[in-house]
Formats: sequence, C-alpha cells, structure tokens
Amino acid sequence: MTTVLIIGGGYGGIRALETLAAKADNRINIILIDQHTYHYLQTESYNLLVSKRSLEQTFVYLPSLVSSFGDHARFVCDEALSIENQTLVCRHSRFDFDYAVIATGSVTRFSQDFRAKGAYVLGVKSLRSTLHAKHYFEEELFERLEGCRHQKSFTIIVIGAGLSGVEVAAEMQEYFNRYSKEHALECGTIHIKLVAKHILNTQPADVVAAATARLNALGVEWVAHHVSSVEEQHVVLDNNDTIDFDFTIVTGGIAPSPFIDNLSYSKKPNGFLAVDPYLRLSPTLFAIGDAAAVCNPSGEAVAPTAQSAEAGGDIAANNILASIAKQPLQRANITLRGLAIALGGRYALVVTPYGFCIGGIAGWLIKQSIEKLYKIRLKRRAAQISVRQYQCHERDQ
Ligand SMILES: Cc1cc2nc3c(=O)[nH]c(=O)nc-3n(C[C@H](O)[C@H](O)[C@H](O)COP(=O)(O)OP(=O)(O)OC[C@H]3O[C@@H](n4cnc5c(N)ncnc54)[C@H](O)[C@@H]3O)c2cc1C
Repeated sequence: MTTVLIIGGGYGGIRALETLAAKADNRINIILIDQHTYHYLQTESYNLLVSKRSLEQTFVYLPSLVSSFGDHARFVCDEALSIENQTLVCRHSRFDFDYAVIATGSVTRFSQDFRAKGAYVLGVKSLRSTLHAKHYFEEELFERLEGCRHQKSFTIIVIGAGLSGVEVAAEMQEYFNRYSKEHALECGTIHIKLVAKHILNTQPADVVAAATARLNALGVEWVAHHVSSVEEQHVVLDNNDTIDFDFTIVTGGIAPSPFIDNLSYSKKPNGFLAVDPYLRLSPTLFAIGDAAAVCNPSGEAVAPTAQSAEAGGDIAANNILASIAKQPLQRANITLRGLAIALGGRYALVVTPYGFCIGGIAGWLIKQSIEKLYKIRLKRRAAQISVRQYQCHERDQ
C-alpha cells in the first residue's frame, strides 16, 4: 500500500490530511508527524495573550484528530530532522515513504542582533512563547493592584507591524484600557509601543489608514523606525535612539525552521523551499504553507497565511492522488479571499476580495465566525473518537 507522510500538523498539514483521507478511500496509509501533540491555532494567539481564550480553546489535540480519520491514518509525535532519499529521519524514528508533504511552517525571525532573545524577548508563533508573554502581561496587570507598585509604568515593545504585530499591540492596549477603566484603577500606565517603519506594509492605503486610526484611538504609540538591535532591556533604533522595555514581542518577519535549513533541496534567497508550479520539490516530495515560497501563475509571491497553507494542503493532496493514478497534476493558483485583522476588543477590519472593507463590530463578528467555524469542525471530529495508540517522542523545548 502507498505510504504518504505529512510532516507538520498545522493549517496546511491538517488540510492535506483531510483531503487525502476523504478522497483516498483507505487505499493509502497516512502518517502525520508533528513535534508536538497539538495543532496550535496561531491565528488566535492574540486572544490567548489577553486571556480572551482559554488554553484549551487555542489548540486541537492531534492524536485524537488524526485517529478520527480511521485506521489508515496514524499520528506520530517526533521531530523531523532530515530526508534521505525516500526516508524521513526523525529524532527517535525513521519512516520510508512513497510520497511526503513538508508542512512544518516557519519560526519567528530573530535577527542576530537580537541578543536578548528568550528572556524578555518573545515571539507568538509557538504556544509556549505566547503563554510566556501572557504570563508577563498578567503579572504586570496584577502588580497594578498592589499598593506599593501600582504607580509603576511598564513598557511593552511590539517589533513589526504586519498582521500579527498590529493584532497583538491593539489587543493588549484595549485590554489594559478596559482593565483600568472597569476598576477605575489609579495606576501607572502600560505603554504599548509598536516599532516598525510601516504599518501593514502590503495592504492598500485605506486599510492602513483605518488600522492606524484605530491604533491611535486605543493609545498604541507607533514608532516609525527599524530596530537595529535588541539588548538587555532596551532596543536600539536605526537612528541610534534607544527605548527601554520590560518585555518585547517580536513579530517582524518569519524564518525557515531548523528542519528546512537542514534540507538540501532548492531554496529561495530567504531560505524557504522553492517549489515547482505543482508544489513539488521532487516527483514524490511536496512542500506547502509557510515552509514553501509559493508563486501564483503571474509570478506573484503568495503571502504566508493560514489560508494559503490550507489551499496548498488541498493542492498537494490532490496532486499526490493524481501522481498515484498517473493523471495530470493541478497547478497551484492560490489567491487570498480577503483578510480579517483583529484591532482590539470587539473591533476588526475585514478586507474583502471585492475591494471594500467591513470595520467595527460587524468586522469582529465575521472574524469570530471564521475562527469558530475552523476550530469547531476540528474539535468536534477529535472529540468523537478515543485515541488509538500513538508513538510519542515530544520535543523538549
Ligand atoms: C499572531 C498571528 C496572527 C495571524 N493571523 C492570521 C490570520 O488572521 N489569517 C491567516 O490566514 N493567517 C494568519 N497568521 C499566519 C498563519 O498562522 C500562518 O501562516 C500559518 O500558521 C502557516 O501554516 P502552516 O501549516 O504552514 O504552519 P503551522 O501552522 O505553523 O504548522 C507547522 C506545524 O509543523 C510542526 N513542525 C515544525 N517543525 C517540525 C519538525 N521538525 N518536525 C515535526 N513537526 C514540526 C509544528 O509543530 C506545527 O504544528 C497569523 C500568524 C500569527 C503569528
């Protein structure tokens, strides 16, 4: 029987699993490998950060989810290290495959000048670091209640003002504003400083204007500079000014994961995998989502989003089935169907594919529905089934 490995159980990997399982009719063995036992819903990390979502609402448990696809689907918790011909080498096991899909996502790009990384300098691309940032934030909110420290000011720097930076800054500021207003707290301020040369760089001018106005209204301070380096408790800007911080969240860009660094397949200058128009690296190996540099037929780069990862998962799965059946393959033509940007509290900006935006509470309701529909579907599946035995060698990090 044909064996297909899916390496990475994020947005792209799960969609590949769903499509393969639905169309393969138990004719193939599917093994999904992830270094963690959970699918982290990173598009909702801004909610976890300010306790609007509980921990359990921010992940889907992979052993139960994969089991729900039947006896031909199996989950293994291990860290993929390299690929040797038709064998995936993991930290604790090896798997021979007929076809494989690389869906290992990306990591936060910490430049080499970010020397303080790890202690007070965190990303939000992993569940662990988001929880870490949430604890810092809550600890400081709690300190506002303590008599002796309540007047202390606190500065959080968010580096990068793409989708995730803007969402994180707006959500934390809105939460603090509401927290102090609801309790009429007389306390020192929490300053949220968003440091980036541009806000939502790739978006049209009206979207940037609306998002900037909302950030201003909330009280987020925009510092329009690049960060040259991050030192212990302060950042240095490109004009040599410094800003002291209590903690920093880095959202300014993504980098390939160590697994992708180890692979010797063709790559773009930014280190991501250079796939062909069918999302292949070789006739039996596919790459999707953040891990791959995907272009649509007009040569335009496709933005790394959950949406494009899911579309890639679909195409890779269809192309594996077509390869097995010796049918023509489907070219990847991935276009984004809009974007929903959370801007603090019950306010979001939905950029529709029809050229107009929906803002405020209506935008927020749309964003909520998108997030809920995705999550409820997977959680329901996972809850139906008791976990069959699975191998677990979870990465210790
Ligand atoms: C704060 C924030 C907000 C965002 N908002 C949106 C949004 O509103 N809309 C949108 O479309 N996108 C959004 N994104 C982007 C989106 O989350 C990513 O583009 C998406 O997660 C990429 O999906 P993926 O499947 O490629 O990778 P991921 O979802 O990151 O999954 C990769 C998986 O691979 C596993 N893995 C990695 N390395 C290994 C290894 N060596 N061995 C085994 N397993 C491994 C990981 O554990 C993980 O489970 C947001 C991102 C952030 C950080």
